[in-house]
Amino acid sequence: MIEMKNVVKKYPNGVAAVKGLNIEIKQGEFVYIVGPSGAGKSTFIKMMYREEQATSGEIKVDGTNITALKSKEIPYLRRTMGVVFQDFKLLPRKNVFENVAFALEVIEQDKEDIRKRVMEVLKLVGLQKKARMFPDELSGGEQQRVAIARSIVNKPKVVIADEPTGNLDPETSWDIMRLFDEINSGGTTIIMATHNREIVNTMRKRVIAIENGQIVRDERGGDYGYEF
Ligand code: ADP
Ligand code: ADP
Repeated sequence: MIEMKNVVKKYPNGVAAVKGLNIEIKQGEFVYIVGPSGAGKSTFIKMMYREEQATSGEIKVDGTNITALKSKEIPYLRRTMGVVFQDFKLLPRKNVFENVAFALEVIEQDKEDIRKRVMEVLKLVGLQKKARMFPDELSGGEQQRVAIARSIVNKPKVVIADEPTGNLDPETSWDIMRLFDEINSGGTTIIMATHNREIVNTMRKRVIAIENGQIVRDERGGDYGYEF
């Protein structure tokens, strides 16, 4: 699903954030990305959806070399993947329904099909009753559920999440993790950067640890491995 070969990222200011990553993530895997702040986790994740362009190396997503994509092709890539952020990034002036519908690929879909699909994913995340509410009327956990609904509405093969529980209390974090686990059970690949030691050590998955721009550990059913 995701393949990286000798991927290097140097920012314009000279910071080498990623220094030669080689990785293969298969369809259906659930992968945690762990490591200290500044290790390169976000950069690694942003390159997968071309928010950042790799300086050198090759990145394949579902067989397509995305390092070669032209800017006008990037929206098509983004529709094949869902992205979830720590700060949710919902549109504040759109309600829950509209936030999810907005992400839906609207190529000659009729209104009723759109409505059905949006309500189906809102039901999956447990928010069908809050479809008309606005982001600022929801708790953090609910806002993250909306963001997750938005990320899966196009039925992507992969969902990428950058610290999705970073702004949530422990109990809410667990609810969100169970939701990701459920989505993964349906065959969707999940790649998640996280600092949540308890979750990583309990809900055991593949763990890739990044330090100083390099992979220092890659284990199936691994633990969090840091004291912070
Ligand atoms: P992490 O997600 O593990 O905290 P990042 O990928 O955000 O790490 O950062 C890796 C390194 O790259 C850090 O030294 C960070 O300061 C630097 N960095 C991140 N984004 C940028 C940017 N847009 N421009 C310059 N340096 C950046
Ligand atoms: P997040 O933690 O929400 O993923 P970012 O990826 O934006 O935040 O930033 C992660 C790290 O990269 C931080 O330490 C931040 O200071 C650094 N960073 C982000 N953008 C830049 C930039 N333009 N120049 C230098 N450092 C940056």
